[in-house]
Amino acid sequence: MKTATLNRGKETKYLNEYPLIDEDDIYSHDHLKEGDLFYLVNNQEQYIATAYVGKQHKGIGWVLSYDKNEVINTQFFERLFEAAKSERTYFYNIDGTNAFRVFNGEGDGVGGLTIDNYDGHFLIQWYSKGIYKFRYNVLSALKSVFPYTSIYEKMRFKDAEIKGGFVDGDAPEFPIVIEENYTFFNVHLDDGPMTGIFLDQKEVRKKLKDQYAEDKEILNVFSYTGAFSVVAAEKAEMTTSVDLANRSRTLTEGNFGLNSIDPKSQYIYVMDTFDFYNYARRHDLFYDTIVIDPPSFSRNKKKTFSVQKDYDKLILGALDILGPDGTLLLCTNNSAFSLKAFKNVVNTTLNAQNVDYEIVDVMGLPKDFKTHPHYKPSKYLKAIFVKIK
Ligand code: SAH
Repeated sequence: MKTATLNRGKETKYLNEYPLIDEDDIYSHDHLKEGDLFYLVNNQEQYIATAYVGKQHKGIGWVLSYDKNEVINTQFFERLFEAAKSERTYFYNIDGTNAFRVFNGEGDGVGGLTIDNYDGHFLIQWYSKGIYKFRYNVLSALKSVFPYTSIYEKMRFKDAEIKGGFVDGDAPEFPIVIEENYTFFNVHLDDGPMTGIFLDQKEVRKKLKDQYAEDKEILNVFSYTGAFSVVAAEKAEMTTSVDLANRSRTLTEGNFGLNSIDPKSQYIYVMDTFDFYNYARRHDLFYDTIVIDPPSFSRNKKKTFSVQKDYDKLILGALDILGPDGTLLLCTNNSAFSLKAFKNVVNTTLNAQNVDYEIVDVMGLPKDFKTHPHYKPSKYLKAIFVKIK
């Protein structure tokens, strides 16, 4: 077995089960390449953990086991998949929801690998070349542990020459329709990097619908397929969805239609969010609840946007068009943007405007997106509900 030797004094972090191995902590290694298994050892050559090489974030790989005798083979993945499956008994049995994550990377024991179940159609996402080297073992284990109708895969690493797509089973015709808390959504598992629905936001969507939508005028910017709008529209006075991408209009209309909401009864704008803010100001449009769930980075013509640098501008623009006693739902899925830093931006921005406000709810990932107790970035999703008085 190859080894990687830690710098002196660096072992405590890994003995405390930090799962991602930082390149800067390594003193030397045996010419490690993507997909290699290796022993992580301290500077006395004492074993700490077994890991694989898969470059992701600032890490060179992920810990798989703390047992030197553990063999990383199909049985290893089967054991983890069985554990992950039994922890999701609730999601297998509830009514009204048939899409959820069955295996969540480091939270379930293998960083760099996620598996979602969309009503029996499974989507594997590979986050590095390294984890992809275990494809045969992962697929064999998945097939023996999880009942499925079909399996698809997506490559989430750069320079992927291998295309994702269909892997096994009965290929459905896309879109398939999935259900989440009794709302229906179209899903594509074989069309670009996204699927049509971000399953990690299900509890936030439910909260929006249950507490902040009734008889309200809702604005949803960066709306993509309109998931927040569709859920809210079941109770709202009116929803407005705004997204830069042309495809968003048909996708959003499709989701409204699936839920017996006439798409023509709702507003959909194919527009840049900041341009829409200006448009709404010029036309005296006001909203009771504004949902902001942007990508971490975006580029529109020459303008770039980064959540970590520019979230204040999204909040300021929304304040101008928020009606009395309005609510902002502010989200980010950027793992490098901590909840503390995000709250800090929210507080600083609102304080500078002298507005009276209260953070009424702070939400994160649902239970099926199991996180790792010693790895903070695994709690990447942050959703803050702010009431502006
Ligand atoms: N909030 C969505 C997910 C957003 S995905 C949901 O709940 O499903 C990011 C979306 O932002 C993409 O659809 C992209 O087209 C859109 N987008 C990126 N930059 C934008 C901009 N400047 N203005 C409006 N939409 C933008």
